[in-house]
Amino acid sequence: MILYTLYKNAYRDISYLEKPINEKFYINITNKCPCSCTFCLRQTKEMLENNSLWLKEDPTSTQIICELKKYDLTLVPEIIFCGFGEPLENIDVVCEVAKYIKDTYPNIHIRVNTNGLGNLVHNKDITPSLKGLIDTISISLNASNKEEYLKVTRSRFGIGSFDAMLEFARLSKTYVPNVVLSVVDVIGKEEIQKCQTICDNLGVKLRVRVYEE
Ligand code: SF4
Repeated sequence: MILYTLYKNAYRDISYLEKPINEKFYINITNKCPCSCTFCLRQTKEMLENNSLWLKEDPTSTQIICELKKYDLTLVPEIIFCGFGEPLENIDVVCEVAKYIKDTYPNIHIRVNTNGLGNLVHNKDITPSLKGLIDTISISLNASNKEEYLKVTRSRFGIGSFDAMLEFARLSKTYVPNVVLSVVDVIGKEEIQKCQTICDNLGVKLRVRVYEE
């Protein structure tokens, strides 16, 4: 499933939506990810085998654009690159698809949900390629320190991942108008306050999401 929405807590292809489509929806880019987060649905065997977000192979930008062309998106407020992996693993696909959306529907807000490790994945600064294409980048902060972050994400890049993620957020500010770091409320008030201080120092917003089973 490449284009999907959340309907009654389940992932549905956007063909389930009534037409004309006037809700945000998501683009599933890849299953690749350098992390293995303890809370990630990818860790559940059943989810891996049965989940419709599990891609047999990553779609090309042409395939995704073909899917988008099946619908009139004039009323769509927002499209989010998300899915069952790290979208910026396939940065070129994200940029090509975002360019198509911006050229065709300039009013649609485009967001990328990311773990913020794209510069480590590609071994270079990829943030300049987001310029003019991505309106919001939402980066999972997860924790207020590198040790806890690694414990949660189990990033293959090890203990340097936390600082690299914060640097990615800092660099993104030059090219993306809205940079957000997110945490889940289960980390507790004290930890959230420390995360707020990190965001204040970086000059980005903190989003506290409500944990859902
Ligand atoms: S970064 Fe996202 S996709 Fe990757 S393991 Fe963590 S929660 Fe799952």
